[in-house]
Amino acid sequence: MVEGPTAKAYAVRIENRLKGEVIRRLYAKSRRLHVSPSLAIGKMVTGAESLGKNIVVRLEELAIRLHLMMYGSIHLYELGEPLLKPEAMVRLILEGEGSKLVAYNAPIVELDLYERLMTRLKAGLGPDPLRPDWDFEKALRRLRGFKGKVGVALLDQQVIAGLGNILRNEILFRAEVHPERQVRSLSLDEVCRLIEEAKRLSEEFLARKLRGERIAPLLKVYNRQRQPCPRCGYPIKLYFQEPIKRKTFVCERCQR
Ligand SMILES: [Zn+2]
Repeated sequence: MVEGPTAKAYAVRIENRLKGEVIRRLYAKSRRLHVSPSLAIGKMVTGAESLGKNIVVRLEELAIRLHLMMYGSIHLYELGEPLLKPEAMVRLILEGEGSKLVAYNAPIVELDLYERLMTRLKAGLGPDPLRPDWDFEKALRRLRGFKGKVGVALLDQQVIAGLGNILRNEILFRAEVHPERQVRSLSLDEVCRLIEEAKRLSEEFLARKLRGERIAPLLKVYNRQRQPCPRCGYPIKLYFQEPIKRKTFVCERCQR
């Protein structure tokens, strides 16, 4: 599952590799081509960024949006280098003068005007802790305004963009909040702790990914069912939280 830090790490790699290159060829297998792909030819790659779990490659006034969901991936190649995966899996090929980007199995590939695409994306997403326009107050309002369980709220991309199931579990543990709590029952201090942990942990995940390191050493509860809680020693419980039916790991002693 691609979470915000993975999307951001992809964006950083794409920018490092392709920024400044002029597009020679664009192939996209998608129904979301809002402008003609031929318009991208001759445009320069001017940057890449992430917004929640989306990756946006900017080509001057145009942009390509990728969302990888569960099984998508992006590879960067030298021109002429053979593809590492079967052609049937290819959804996007973007060729510059020396490098090419290939997206495999990405369920969303979209081509549009940059401003229009970003406006549309931002309208559907909450603040993103990995972006320069991160807005703590807005995240606070969105979280406090959520009706339901806090464990569900943290996965809602309109509350905070980019959190996936691993981050959600680890944030709740660090903030010492039980996932079954109703958001309206949380104190202001608890809500602030959750949002601070969301930002801190997203940044920590990203730093590891950029160094090519695994995130496993950061995980205190995720996939650690029946093992002792690192804080109190009580066994960590695994259950599937309703109604989202996602794997949920909790220390019933530390998380209240
Ligand atoms: Zn504990």
